[in-house]
Amino acid sequence: MFRALREQFPHAHCELDFRTPLELLVATILSAQTTDVGVNKVTPTLFARYPDAAAYAGADREELEELLRPTGFFRAKAKSVMTLGQTLVERFDGQVPPRLKDLVTLPGVGRKTAFVVLGDAFGQPGLTVDTHFGRVVRRMGWTDLDDPVKVEAAIGAMFPRKDWTQLSHVLIFQGRRICHAKRPACGVCPVARWCPSYGVGEVDPDKARALLKFELAPGAVRPAGVPEPAAVR
Ligand code: SF4
Repeated sequence: MFRALREQFPHAHCELDFRTPLELLVATILSAQTTDVGVNKVTPTLFARYPDAAAYAGADREELEELLRPTGFFRAKAKSVMTLGQTLVERFDGQVPPRLKDLVTLPGVGRKTAFVVLGDAFGQPGLTVDTHFGRVVRRMGWTDLDDPVKVEAAIGAMFPRKDWTQLSHVLIFQGRRICHAKRPACGVCPVARWCPSYGVGEVDPDKARALLKFELAPGAVRPAGVPEPAAVR
């Protein structure tokens, strides 16, 4: 099933735009309750205005809130980002620490966010058990556990560490594009033949195809190797 998903989404990647660990950490915090596309719309201005942890630490709260307004929950997010900046300056010399045990001590950073940063900004294998990851592995019958930390341990034991980051990306792509929470597109799913949940969603291929989603901004430039939606089908 992993092989089939990898063939379906050879381009699977972190969909947040970033250049540094700090940018990815901030973008991940902002992605709560909104889409990566929505976050990517505000981050170019945000990252230019606040280039380092000290800039967030000393931000003007109202100005920061206004910048973050389109991402929703902007007051809480502004507070989180400012507190994060202050903590990084006070405890880590303004740098994002590259270790799980340090990352999870940062305000607003749980294991999921920490693994996103470790996997995509520091190149260390990590399983990112978000809502898509959990739903897809349960539907595919890989586990029946609900608790994200237990899911992480169970799935981690099934795959070599070197595959963890890519596995997370393809499962999240599968959850966003095909195996949706409400109406999964079983009729065009690459793992349908092995999936014990086949049939919980639409099985008619034409109707299933109409359910496919692609979280790309209109007119967005696709990264190299990203097929057009028609090819993904
Ligand atoms: S067959 Fe249906 S339930 Fe199973 S992974 Fe595919 S879309 Fe999800």
